[in-house]
Amino acid sequence: MLAPYACDPAHSRGRRYPQSPAPTRTEFQRDRDRIVHSGAFRRLVYKTQVFLNHEGDLFRTRMTHSLEVAQLGRSMARTLGLNEDLVEAIALAHDLGHTPFGHAGQDALHDCMRDWGGFEHNMQSLRVVDHLEQRYPDYDGLNLCFETREGILKHCSAVNAHALEAQEPRYADGQGGVGARFLMRQQPSLEAQLCNLADEIAYNAHDIDDGVRSGLITLDAVREVPLFARFCDDALREQPMLGASTNRKRWLYEAIRRILSAQVYDVIEASRAGIAAHNIRDLAGVRSASPLVVFSASMVEEARVLKAFLLRALYRHPQVVEKMEAARAVVSELFALYADAPDQMAPFNVVDCIAQQPLQRRVADYVAGMTDRFALREHERMTGRRILV
Ligand code: MG
Repeated sequence: MLAPYACDPAHSRGRRYPQSPAPTRTEFQRDRDRIVHSGAFRRLVYKTQVFLNHEGDLFRTRMTHSLEVAQLGRSMARTLGLNEDLVEAIALAHDLGHTPFGHAGQDALHDCMRDWGGFEHNMQSLRVVDHLEQRYPDYDGLNLCFETREGILKHCSAVNAHALEAQEPRYADGQGGVGARFLMRQQPSLEAQLCNLADEIAYNAHDIDDGVRSGLITLDAVREVPLFARFCDDALREQPMLGASTNRKRWLYEAIRRILSAQVYDVIEASRAGIAAHNIRDLAGVRSASPLVVFSASMVEEARVLKAFLLRALYRHPQVVEKMEAARAVVSELFALYADAPDQMAPFNVVDCIAQQPLQRRVADYVAGMTDRFALREHERMTGRRILV
């Protein structure tokens, strides 16, 4: 049962290259399937979220993170009457453009590309689905629907938005493409807005879990975050057995589970209230309103305190920082090595998708597509130095 302001696959704005409908699937289900079968999606298994992929088998990777975002997103979409298939497609694709080694890799690549337009993982996710996946005879990319592509492009500078618009197809309704909303200061669909929050809810929760299991932060340290302490206390009051020293793990998971639920219910309630208050009746109303899929004001503040804690205690933990600095060096050195000797890139994986693009962009695409371990292996092959293993 779709709400009137949800995206309806029967009224998709269309694909970059027109295609006849699939016999058994909606347009958004088809997009989800194309994403799941892409090479970039499979590579997410071996890409860092926070911990390097080989540091432990149980830490989240970009793949498991994306699956968690899809699960949270779908469950909220169903309750809000939004399109679950579109949410799933956007969630599974939202991190496709991430480099190896998480944000350290992206920062390094952005520095390398400073004179050639920079590197931004969000733009790169769109570039993957629009150009870099080459699996179809008639076109580059996965030829996804406008609505899926719009959801993938979370942020975009005005310069990049103009550049994207120059390459967009002419849509039947005469409206602009995926860059237009950034120039017109409009909002994306509610499904796209929902994926942003599902992403945040997912990583705030799973980074507590991974952080504690890694030993870099302790359960007691996380208790300085009021949101976490409150749910820890609630859980202990209801289940005193969680206080036993042998039950620390169950206690941790019970607190995280309650944080997840509280955030999901908060988004559902705050979004329903916003949709009603703005009297939203259709997608046009969604686009011209302020963001409607939101946390309540109090949850915004609680999530901010949690994020600040994770930044200080986990993402900037000396052990994480040390590894990330080494990872940065690997990416910068790989970039320089391939730019000097492009024949060192495996031809099968080099994509020459847009005529006259500089060599540096091809190198950036190649390095960005790498998994953590392939990057380390290539670095060792070309420098003789073993790093981070
Ligand atoms: Mg993400």
